[in-house]
Amino acid sequence: MAKKVKVNADACIGCGLCVSTAPDVFAFTDDGKSEVIGDVADESQVDEIVASCPVGAIEED
Ligand code: SF4
Repeated sequence: MAKKVKVNADACIGCGLCVSTAPDVFAFTDDGKSEVIGDVADESQVDEIVASCPVGAIEED
């Protein structure tokens, strides 16, 4: 089942990890932050994606 995530733009440092590992879920905004462009298709990957952000900017929505 697809799950939604969100990015805290104030916390995001634009490292690009989420954009490169899940390009169907995250993309860069014009100011170099990450934004959510899609759902996480595999629910089991949500915890890993949330945990992978070095500054904890990704949250389950
Ligand atoms: S992994 Fe975290 S800090 Fe890096 S671009 Fe994604 S949301 Fe921003």
